[in-house]
Amino acid sequence: MTMSGGAAASIVPKLKKVCMCHRALLAAGSLMTLLLLACFVLRRDSASSVAWLQIDVAKVTGMNNGTAGLTTNAPHGRDDLLGGLLPAGMDRRSCRSWYESWRYYKHFPYAASPYLQRKLRAYEARHRRCAPGTPLYAKSLEQLRSGRSADGMECTYVVWLPFDGLGNRMLSMVSAFLYALLTDRIFLAALPPDSADLFCEPFPGTTWRLPVDHDFPIKDLVPRGQHIDKSYTRLLDAKVVGPDANATAGVPAYVYLSMGWQLKDPLFFCGEHQLVLAKVNWLLLYSDLYFAQSLYAVAEFQDELRRLFPAKESVSHLLSRYLFHPTNPVWSLTTRYYRSYLASAKRRIGVQIRMFSYGSIPADDMYTQILACSRQEHILPETAGGGGGGGGGASDNGVLATRSDDNVDGSNSTAILVASLYADYYERLRSRYYEHAAKGGETVAVFQPSHEERQATDNLAHNQRALAEIYLLSFSEELLTSGRSTFGYVSSNLAGVRPTILLTAYGHKVPEPPCRRAVSMEPCNLTPPLGVECRGKPVDKEDLARHLRVCEDSNDSVKFFD
Ligand code: GDP
Repeated sequence: MTMSGGAAASIVPKLKKVCMCHRALLAAGSLMTLLLLACFVLRRDSASSVAWLQIDVAKVTGMNNGTAGLTTNAPHGRDDLLGGLLPAGMDRRSCRSWYESWRYYKHFPYAASPYLQRKLRAYEARHRRCAPGTPLYAKSLEQLRSGRSADGMECTYVVWLPFDGLGNRMLSMVSAFLYALLTDRIFLAALPPDSADLFCEPFPGTTWRLPVDHDFPIKDLVPRGQHIDKSYTRLLDAKVVGPDANATAGVPAYVYLSMGWQLKDPLFFCGEHQLVLAKVNWLLLYSDLYFAQSLYAVAEFQDELRRLFPAKESVSHLLSRYLFHPTNPVWSLTTRYYRSYLASAKRRIGVQIRMFSYGSIPADDMYTQILACSRQEHILPETAGGGGGGGGGASDNGVLATRSDDNVDGSNSTAILVASLYADYYERLRSRYYEHAAKGGETVAVFQPSHEERQATDNLAHNQRALAEIYLLSFSEELLTSGRSTFGYVSSNLAGVRPTILLTAYGHKVPEPPCRRAVSMEPCNLTPPLGVECRGKPVDKEDLARHLRVCEDSNDSVKFFD
């Protein structure tokens, strides 16, 4: 069976994504130099690119078993405010996940630095002063109505706009919030009805929701595509903003940032353009990407990011745990399922299977890939009687193994949680452990909370189930996720786990190797600004090279590591 149709909505963009190696060959002082180098090497000689990747992967495989090399279960995270990451003051009843999530997470690899804690507390105070409903917000709204930005406004904003599926949205929210922290802007979210009841308010005593009613000065706020009239590059070309703009016309009140997978505004990642954007009171961010890495390549942001996140691998892990708290309905779904099916096991393995149309292969091949990967990385329990295929009869070994007294108390038990739009892989895995005993008398149970069959991002109940599954995955000790899937990326970084990533079957060919261990739990920046020429302050390239590398699952993309 081929799985592809249901995923179409979020596949199309990724399908069209191309390596931008043909772009201008030089990038002055930024991430682009490193990226171009990687991209150039990869394109010129795929054999050497593989060798280049393998060096790193081998190094990491030696030290990394999901969380090896990290401090797991460290005392700093084991309290209901996650070691000072979260502010006190949230009402316990209105958002139970806020105080309860720490009981479910298995790993606490990174503490929030004291500097990050201070920055977050200062941000929350500023947010309370500038949020919708305050006099300062009313003043900013007036300014927006006037059509021009004003100098010296106390409150300036970055407004997050929804684009693509839930994983994409969560990653672009984290990126937008990070940008707000770096630029002293207020982060507001234009949450559509399909997301109205997913997340609690993250900043106590105030709101992150942009009220988009008929009074809001910008009509049709959410663009219908990535070609946006008032996007930064277009306004720059039309001399409405930037050094060549007509000074008497003033700076526009708002500018769109078209930062989706087509990255129409790559100049955003140049310091000299950040100076221009700093004068705009309202920035409207339309993105489905995680782009913290590209912010690190902006000289003006690099030092502050270093202070905030001494470990680069911790950026999205800490910000996701800070920003996202499922609402009570989603939390009830999540914890009810966890307690019913997963809690009693000694360990939990999350398996997330996503297939994009450009990399679809028959389910038999995909299942073989999963098992090959599992054997390679020692993830799923091996079966005593084989059980490599999709079916087959029960084995005698299995009967003997289940009689073993070694596991009468269930101390050697594993729960496998499968998240997928389809039931197929769950059924195959369940049959595997039904028909064949696991080696060593281990008890293995396989669960799947839902199989929605197709993506339905405009449906709140569908998104609530999707979010519940992201969190259930994040409560695993170990993760096996699908390459290029933001759903998998978010699960891993919430979990604090370096996942094993199934590689994409480009050209519908089963990949070899089947998977790779991730070098860090950071999401991949799937469309970095390759080949863009910046003319601002030079960035510390050595430091950049130390902390960025090509993603395991995407050759023309980058991720943070330490
Ligand atoms: P990506 O397309 O894999 O990068 O992830 P997104 O989360 O951005 O978009 C995929 C969407 O499809 C999700 O948000 C869900 O709506 C749906 N989806 C995909 N996989 C699953 C799954 O395993 N479980 C559930 N419940 N929904 C899924």
